[in-house]
Amino acid sequence: MSPKRLVLFDIDGTILWGGPLWKECFLGAMAHFFPDLEFPKVSFGGKTDIQIAREMMAAMGFNEAQVEDHMHRVVDLYVERACVAASTRSHEVSVLPGAKEIIEQLAVHPDVVLGLLTGNVRKGAHAKLSCAKLAHHFKLGVYGDDHWDRYRLPQLAVDLVQSELGLRFTGKQVVIIGDTIHDVNCGKAIGVRSIAVGTGRNVPTEELLKQNPDFYFRDLSNTFEVLQAILEEL
Ligand SMILES: [Mg+2]
Repeated sequence: MSPKRLVLFDIDGTILWGGPLWKECFLGAMAHFFPDLEFPKVSFGGKTDIQIAREMMAAMGFNEAQVEDHMHRVVDLYVERACVAASTRSHEVSVLPGAKEIIEQLAVHPDVVLGLLTGNVRKGAHAKLSCAKLAHHFKLGVYGDDHWDRYRLPQLAVDLVQSELGLRFTGKQVVIIGDTIHDVNCGKAIGVRSIAVGTGRNVPTEELLKQNPDFYFRDLSNTFEVLQAILEEL
């Protein structure tokens, strides 16, 4: 029997909190390229790394060509610095309630293909998950470097699984688990099942619920119920 669900996890605010080092390294990389400029406040939640760099540079007055020219260099330097910092600061990463347990169950569940759908670039994602000793569970995923627009990632994930595993998942067979309105909304165009989790920071529960996720959990600690939400027929 082939698997019935493709389950895609967001990372920050859903599986773990990475602590301050990631944002420090991101802002440090920006400061490396733009040493004399003040950075505008841009919300990081639910966005890809490259999108955050784009939005900051646009708010600083750079034109599209300048943004295109610099965004990958900023993100590459951020990841390089973050990976070095993570080797001595992995204790800053905290796994959110229930995340480890549900991931361990899903990783061996015969009905499930497990993956990531995250705005982190691939190397940054795996560095964070390695700090939490969870990286080995995620052999596939779509990342912020596959496309800077998170809303393009669900279709890319479906296509990736088809080309790598020969499995075609459609509609509610695809499950996206995340903590922001962008996690709930990014798969709507292809009719995915969304599971919103209330462990994000600065994400009001009412805002999240207003987006009509298929399921909402305060956190992932009730493994049985989360598993049921993933597997039940919709
Ligand atoms: Mg998140």
